[in-house]
Amino acid sequence: MGYDTRNPSFTFRFGEYRHGKLSKLAKLNKMPVVDFVRSKILDPFIDGDLVPKAKDDLILEMSKLKLEKIKAEIEYLKLKNRYMETFGTPLSSAATRILKPQLITTSQTSQITMSPYDAKNNIIQCCECSQLFRWENKDEFLKQKYEFELHMTNKHGRAFTYLEKTVLTDLSFSGASI
Ligand SMILES: [Zn+2]
Repeated sequence: MGYDTRNPSFTFRFGEYRHGKLSKLAKLNKMPVVDFVRSKILDPFIDGDLVPKAKDDLILEMSKLKLEKIKAEIEYLKLKNRYMETFGTPLSSAATRILKPQLITTSQTSQITMSPYDAKNNIIQCCECSQLFRWENKDEFLKQKYEFELHMTNKHGRAFTYLEKTVLTDLSFSGASI
């Protein structure tokens, strides 16, 4: 196999603007244009080291937001650990609610936009753990509404969402659960 076959030359024309741009970049790198194109663009591209430019600003923006979210979560964990180390006791659930970054993932959003009241069976169901709250009469109904609120604070460490609050405020006794 001859030298020319093993090392074929490659020729193409390039527009003035792009050529000018490449010449400038090559000059900055103190290289002849051809060497610059080969060693800084073509070789890295073929080796898979040249990262394609992000499709649009939105994708870039999303990555930035994801990074910020991760940073915020790390900060929160650090804070929790520091608190535990300093005071020898975990953060209270009230403090946790305030400090935890209020960044909601898709699955959490779908849970939170679910109503806790199941009208078909006339019961309250916790959107997070599916625990049921049933009643036979009005006294029990009022008690169970209160129990559900306590459940949310004690078991899930949070207050009602706007939807949960609205549903429960509007919910009045209409007979025993099924
Ligand atoms: Zn629950």
